Amino acid sequence: MNIFEEDKYYIANTYSRQPVEFVYGEGSYLYDVNGKKYIDFGSGIAVNGLGIAQSDWAKAVIKQIKTLPHVSNLCYTQPQVNLAKLLCSKTKLSKVFFSNSGAEANECAIKAARKYSFDKYGEGRYEIITLKNSFHGRTMATLTATGQDVFHNYFMPFLDGFKYAEANNYESVKKAISNKTCAVMLELIQGEGGVIPLDVDFVKKVASLCKKKDILLILDEVQTGNGRTGTLYAYMQYGIKPDIVTTAKGLGNGLPIGATMFNEKTSNVLTPGTHGSTFGGNPVSAAGACVVLKKLNSKLLIEVKAKSDKIISELSGLKGVKSISGLGLMLGIECDDLKEKVNACLEKGLVVLTAKNKIRLLPALNISNDTLDAGLNILKEVLK
Ligand SMILES: *Cc1c(COP(=O)(O)O)cnc(C)c1O
Repeated sequence: MNIFEEDKYYIANTYSRQPVEFVYGEGSYLYDVNGKKYIDFGSGIAVNGLGIAQSDWAKAVIKQIKTLPHVSNLCYTQPQVNLAKLLCSKTKLSKVFFSNSGAEANECAIKAARKYSFDKYGEGRYEIITLKNSFHGRTMATLTATGQDVFHNYFMPFLDGFKYAEANNYESVKKAISNKTCAVMLELIQGEGGVIPLDVDFVKKVASLCKKKDILLILDEVQTGNGRTGTLYAYMQYGIKPDIVTTAKGLGNGLPIGATMFNEKTSNVLTPGTHGSTFGGNPVSAAGACVVLKKLNSKLLIEVKAKSDKIISELSGLKGVKSISGLGLMLGIECDDLKEKVNACLEKGLVVLTAKNKIRLLPALNISNDTLDAGLNILKEVLK
């Protein structure tokens, strides 16, 4: 059997994979088993934000692997504390809980929101409002939070206490809120939902309503976080102060890590025994993530915006491009015949993703201008 057949035979068949086997990567380049070189506009779905195997990240990771790859969370480790300190100082949030993935970071936020409300108001105030077309993960709670029926098939019954409102429709959110509501959870750009940004005005209104009613505002920055949109976290462009922020993907730059960050109000909700994770905040992932955060300085973030402008100006108005949405280096190009276009890109040596009816671009934040141009030339050819 070849690898495609073996994969299908031995691995649960949950992914429609692209027909390519990558064996090596460096920066914004990937190489397949035949030695063919590809430009990477996907970053492993917004994970490899600094490029593949970034040298300082790899150095820190290797050093930590050789020193202490794992110890239980019942002891202290420096990389985890260093990472928490970096996150808190850069966000002005107060405390962090570490897990291994986006879904887990959101699970933690959901649990914390319910406990915050329970501690303060007692039983019954447990509802969480999320948006239609959102994506929050694949575990039972985060799947329930995900406002898309396509993901809900087969898995009933779901958790109690989730309600869905319309994105960019303040009245819809207001209507969904009741005296049972403990939190509103949002992606500022719906990623899997088709790279759809929320309006600043909508988000601000929701934030102030939440504040007034002591409903927690949870932001799922699993995909939008860690420099992806041109600020360290996307909320920093929205002029709001969330109560809980979750992140994962780009924080790890290739290793699994999730973080749930709490503001002062929510920082002491989780207490001994109320939550935990065996691997969460693993020293190796944490040592790597510290390098990621240190590299996401204002110079790099300004470059993200410049590269974003470049992509938008090169692609907008092209025949076949119906619209371009997104922020920073999280962009969606609406066009027809997606599957064929993705395959054509791959054929020509460019890796791109899709989201709903769009080609989704998530290149490394530090992609060089030459590589970006070369990738855009392939994309333009294919779009025509
Ligand atoms: C990817 C993603 C998740 C899930 O993250 P996993 O690491 O796959 O569990 C959750 N929320 C958003 C917004 C995401 O993009």
